[in-house]
Amino acid sequence: MGRYIGPVCRLCRREGIKLFLKGEKCLTKCILDRRRKLPGQHGELRRKLTEYGKRLREKQKLRRIYNVREEQFIRYFEMATKMSGNTGENFLQILERRLDNVVYRLGFSLSRNHARQLIVHGHILVNGKVVDIPSYLVDVGDVITVKEDMRENPDVQRALEIRGDWTVPAWLDRNSSSLTGRVLALPIRDQIDVPVDENLVVEFYSR
Ligand code: SF4
Repeated sequence: MGRYIGPVCRLCRREGIKLFLKGEKCLTKCILDRRRKLPGQHGELRRKLTEYGKRLREKQKLRRIYNVREEQFIRYFEMATKMSGNTGENFLQILERRLDNVVYRLGFSLSRNHARQLIVHGHILVNGKVVDIPSYLVDVGDVITVKEDMRENPDVQRALEIRGDWTVPAWLDRNSSSLTGRVLALPIRDQIDVPVDENLVVEFYSR
């Protein structure tokens, strides 16, 4: 299944929550701040979900937040089941460790999509080397830096301006002047700010 290239606000309306897929517009002109209904002609009629439907929606919500293809999402789930501890928390931890998410969490990009663009165009260093793979999983001690020639870029500057005051999760440390972040620890559930019941996602894939 390919990456979704349609209107992203439709995805938020489908899930009924802000997924923050569009950068600055999500903070200033979000359609969901004005109306909340499902996309489509009969969008105002929110259907009562079956148990399967609830699990499916939760899975889709999580996948859309991190903008991951279904095949890769399943691979992450399989990785999570092989780790010790709680599968749902492991799953979230893997998603959270993706480089595009980390760049976003550090406030260096307007959205995860914007972070992805910075990465694939070679503007992000990990431990001093270019990493152009958005799905790269960071580890404890990794240092993530925006390349020097991008620091004055208007979109990066705008991200710092509007997201600079956002709290960086405790598992990351940010230096706003050098546009550098460090991974202090792997994230635990309480540090992962996603409005998803991961147990429903685990149930979806375990059926
Ligand atoms: Fe979602 Fe952002 Fe569109 Fe709002 S503006 S509906 S948060 S993508």
